[in-house]
Amino acid sequence: MIQLSNVAKYYPAGFGRTYVLRNINLTINEGEFVSIMGPSGSGKSTLLHILGLLEEPSEGEYRFLDQPVQKLSEKRRTELHRSHIGFVFQAYHLIDELTVYENIETPLLYKGMSGNERKSRVADVLDRFNIVAKKDLFPSQLSGGQQQLVGVARAIVAQPKVIFADEPTGNLHSAQAIEIMELFRELNQKDGVTIVQVTHSEANAEYGSRIVRLKDGWLEPEAAPAV
Ligand code: ADP
Ligand code: ADP
Repeated sequence: MIQLSNVAKYYPAGFGRTYVLRNINLTINEGEFVSIMGPSGSGKSTLLHILGLLEEPSEGEYRFLDQPVQKLSEKRRTELHRSHIGFVFQAYHLIDELTVYENIETPLLYKGMSGNERKSRVADVLDRFNIVAKKDLFPSQLSGGQQQLVGVARAIVAQPKVIFADEPTGNLHSAQAIEIMELFRELNQKDGVTIVQVTHSEANAEYGSRIVRLKDGWLEPEAAPAV
């Protein structure tokens, strides 16, 4: 599903370049739940943004769903992103002027879905996440944990194949963090959604089936899976 070959990312710095990622080789199969860990500044967010089609590699090849991402048109990449990818952010990134309902509906509007289908999709997600009573509230009227539930609801409403989450519980208390991780586990195990999260928390990483560690832009060799 996800295949990075010799991927590097650099930014111009003076007359040279600063490498943020180097020689990344990584395969993630459909149905996996992967945690990306590593110290601050090691390139985790950059890697997640490349995987989520928000940034392009400087070198190497990225194949997403068997398509060579860098060879696709901007339009096709946007389509791929909208059809198959849900993103969850540490600071939620909800739209303050929209209600909970409207925030969750946004990805469906981009897809050009009919009004009735949108209604039923949003209703299903509100119900599943137990936030029906909050649907007409604005993000500022919710606790952090509730805002992140809405963030996850928005990420999955269009039924993506994969969710990319950047420190999804970084702003939450541990009880709220556990709720979000339980939800990810359920989406992964019950719905078969592939999940890739960046996290500092070993406890969060335990919810996944695999840990990928970055250090100074390099991927550390992975431990062999326990048999
Ligand atoms: P992490 O998520 O592990 O903290 P990041 O991927 O956010 O790491 O950043 C890795 C390094 O790349 C940092 O040193 C950061 O300053 C640098 N970096 C990220 N984006 C840019 C950019 N647009 N221009 C220059 N340097 C950047
Ligand atoms: P949780 O621990 O479930 O995230 P909190 O204890 O933070 O919830 O919040 C409890 C209740 O208070 C919630 O139902 C939420 O709607 C309400 N609430 C939390 N923060 C705010 C706020 N800033 N403005 C209005 N209502 C809030």
